[in-house]
Amino acid sequence: MANASPIEWTDATWNPVTGCSKISPGCKFCYAERLAHRLQAMGQKNYQNGFELTLQPHMLEHPLRWKQPRCVFVNSMSDLFHAEVPPDYIAKVFDVMRRAHWHQYQILTKRSERLLDLDFNLRWQPQIWMGVSIESEDYLFRADHLRKTGAHVKFLSIEPLLGPLRKLNLRGIHWVIVGGESGPGARPLETAWVSELRDRCIHERVPFFFKQWGGMFKSRTGRILDGRTWDEMPVTVHLQHANTSSQRGVDGRLKSGQGRGSTVQLKPVAPLE
Ligand code: SF4
Repeated sequence: MANASPIEWTDATWNPVTGCSKISPGCKFCYAERLAHRLQAMGQKNYQNGFELTLQPHMLEHPLRWKQPRCVFVNSMSDLFHAEVPPDYIAKVFDVMRRAHWHQYQILTKRSERLLDLDFNLRWQPQIWMGVSIESEDYLFRADHLRKTGAHVKFLSIEPLLGPLRKLNLRGIHWVIVGGESGPGARPLETAWVSELRDRCIHERVPFFFKQWGGMFKSRTGRILDGRTWDEMPVTVHLQHANTSSQRGVDGRLKSGQGRGSTVQLKPVAPLE
């Protein structure tokens, strides 16, 4: 079941796969791993295998049941492009996103090589936004892989940011999310690393979303950068979703950071009756 999401840039989550395995330093304090073990201890059926990768075919059709358009984070508790997720299962996830087209979907992966390998077989639609996670300069290649896919809207989740990303290439990128690590043991985030990325995004007209400073108590450190929040998103015209509708004008354009973000005009899609 997709739940209302506490994640700042989405409304709901949908997990047709649960569980994962660590692949790079950004995974060190994986939030999904911690939550999966908690849900397992609580006896939640979908998490009886804890954080072991598990297909959840009974979850596949859930977006078709939600009549109200939502912004859906796909596989917040896994990585859809994990090697153990069969290509035909990934194709089924894409097929549901095609049929439940009144929602907007955000998929995020660290397995960018596999994303690119399977790209030829993916039925991209404007409502499917594809992102890769990048934590340091060692993983900039993930953006190169993403650029080569057929995704209509391509975004970067730079979280947790673990060092400066001066060589980041923003060509073909429609949205950048930046954040620090949170929770026990969180690695430090330097203001200069965030400011540099924000300035690059402004210069290259890429919408910039600053999620959090993080640290042990993220509610105390907040998400203010240079006196304001940064909540820019690509412009979409087919969905007014709960978390961001207040940030948009009647034409669907962002109120925050007006005129700064590049725009991705998506065709309006009518919701089902
Ligand atoms: S890829 Fe994502 S879900 Fe998988 S272990 Fe790393 S942080 Fe967790």
